[in-house]
Amino acid sequence: MPLDNLSDRVTSLNEAYKHHSARAVLERALTDSQTGKLTLVSSFGAESVALLHMVSVLDRNLPVLFLDTEMLFAETLTYQMEVAERLHLGDVRVLHPDRDALLARDNEGLLHLSDPDGCCALRKTEPLMRALGEFDGWITGRKQYQGGQRKALPFFEADGDLLKVNPLAHWTRDDVQDYMVENRLPRHPLVAQGYPSIGCAPCTTKVAPGEDPRAGRWRNREKTECGIHFVDGKMVRIPAGAGL
Ligand code: SF4
Repeated sequence: MPLDNLSDRVTSLNEAYKHHSARAVLERALTDSQTGKLTLVSSFGAESVALLHMVSVLDRNLPVLFLDTEMLFAETLTYQMEVAERLHLGDVRVLHPDRDALLARDNEGLLHLSDPDGCCALRKTEPLMRALGEFDGWITGRKQYQGGQRKALPFFEADGDLLKVNPLAHWTRDDVQDYMVENRLPRHPLVAQGYPSIGCAPCTTKVAPGEDPRAGRWRNREKTECGIHFVDGKMVRIPAGAGL
């Protein structure tokens, strides 16, 4: 069945599933004829394992895109492999920056110091946009409690030509923690070391007790955003912590 106009689909999906739980929204998203071909984009960060587990229960062969910016903590790379194995994820695709573009624009790996937006574009946005080309939409772990533009985050939204699905939109931080405890899910090892939000190593610092969990991302820089969000095919900024 051909997919309806994206904006109409978003409206109809939000209406149909507005009273559903996170798991039910994800389950319907994976089966509703109006969602098309979906992928989960995951950072395998501090809270990612909850949604990864939910996906593994419903469809462990759903494509999972993991952006290896080549600036990640070694612990994240190890954790990614451990979680994929533990949850029996059957189709994890590791995305890398384009080799030629990397050589041309960040040969020394220092672009994050002078132009973090350019670095995120090179290492995150561009590889992700390429990989998303074969899909009709993507699933994210974004939640309303993360604040900023996400305070009114819906379950379904349009992102350029793609459908974006946010099954955990209504979850609180406690919901995430409870889910991880109840399902005995492995934690990212850096959480216990003071990193409640984990991105690239050069752009992530520890967070002191009482600080905003995202305070360690791009600390002392004006940048607070990852930049992986598209409107009309163009990148626009979103706050950090979007699961990427
Ligand atoms: S988070 Fe930092 S190192 Fe990672 S891609 Fe963005 S600017 Fe570069």
